[in-house]
Amino acid sequence: MTFEEIAALDSEYVSHTYGRFPVAFDGGKGATLHGVDGKEYIDFGAGIAVNIFGAGDAEWKSAVIEQLGKIQHVSNYYYSEPTARLAEMLCKRTGAKKVFFSNSGGEANECALKAARKYSYMKYGEGRSKIVSLQGSFHGRTLFTLTATGQDEFHRYFGPFVQDVACAAPDMADIARVADSRTCAIIIECVQGEGGVKALDGAFVRALAEYCATHDILLICDEVQTGNGRTGKLYSYENYHIMPDIVTTAKGLAGGLPIGACLFFGKTENVFAAGDHGSTFGGNPVSCAAACNVLSRITEELLLEVQAKAEYMRAKLRGFDGVRALTGLGLMIGIVTDRPAKEVASACLKRGLLVLTAHDVVRLLPPLNITKTEMDEGLSILKEVLK
Ligand SMILES: *Cc1c(COP(=O)(O)O)cnc(C)c1O
Repeated sequence: MTFEEIAALDSEYVSHTYGRFPVAFDGGKGATLHGVDGKEYIDFGAGIAVNIFGAGDAEWKSAVIEQLGKIQHVSNYYYSEPTARLAEMLCKRTGAKKVFFSNSGGEANECALKAARKYSYMKYGEGRSKIVSLQGSFHGRTLFTLTATGQDEFHRYFGPFVQDVACAAPDMADIARVADSRTCAIIIECVQGEGGVKALDGAFVRALAEYCATHDILLICDEVQTGNGRTGKLYSYENYHIMPDIVTTAKGLAGGLPIGACLFFGKTENVFAAGDHGSTFGGNPVSCAAACNVLSRITEELLLEVQAKAEYMRAKLRGFDGVRALTGLGLMIGIVTDRPAKEVASACLKRGLLVLTAHDVVRLLPPLNITKTEMDEGLSILKEVLK
């Protein structure tokens, strides 16, 4: 099909929830994608931080195909090796004690919020059910995670919302005001992605972690976008030298297949008992086999490479006309420019570069294995566009 045919079919039959760019892809290798228009595109978005090793990665593909050759799904009434192995890998790498698998970031956060309420209920009884999130946050599209999302533009039409969820500014005075004695958990993204690629202040995050520990409020780190090597650490909270009670991850974990995971550290290890929570597809063996491959390759060496690539890209970007500021952490790069971010993204696309936006910021989330040639090619297009 031509691009025009695909776009017409999509527009007729797919619910109009997305503002799409006018391009369709049918292949690629690494950070170079192939459009059905016959053109090549440098990919600085990785499918929103999902395709960690880009398109068509040989090692990842063979891990997926090997599992497909065995069995595609077994249901959670039975055991499956890739699921158990992935849980072990996640725990050994982070110090977590248990993992619950789902299929998306929103579901991983839904699980974390439910677990927080049960933790508090078991320990303190009814009434200590308040969840506090931060202004500018994004935690998902289910009603609970949408309620916890600290951006009003997502809330139109969908009320009434989940009770006992409140939002605080990212400063300790406001946290102390909002996170009262009825609070069971505070959820944060160390680097807010959808909110505009904003890294939280280090002193604030450390003070918050201390406040949570003192008051037995669970600290949930939403690592859905920041996780799996993106910021130069396996999970972004490591940059802040804190220990969360619950960590959620999704997007890049399986390198392009649907997965979500909620990691329970010491305090919350045994919050859930049989029947408390579940998911038909959660822990799917193909997704888990893919994630085992991804995690086994996020080595210390790769993380150092990510840090070096981030430095390289940021140093170049700093010298471009039209760049007012750079935000974010590692290969999660926000560019504040002198013109609307959407305009920049459209102009980049016309020249063969994919970039994302978050509010008024141009957002770069390239595959972690992007090559120097691909970085240079993409950056030179961005330089042209911003001139
Ligand atoms: C994308 C995202 C989510 C939602 O993930 P889905 O897989 O779309 O449900 C939640 N939290 C953060 C920080 C995200 O970036």
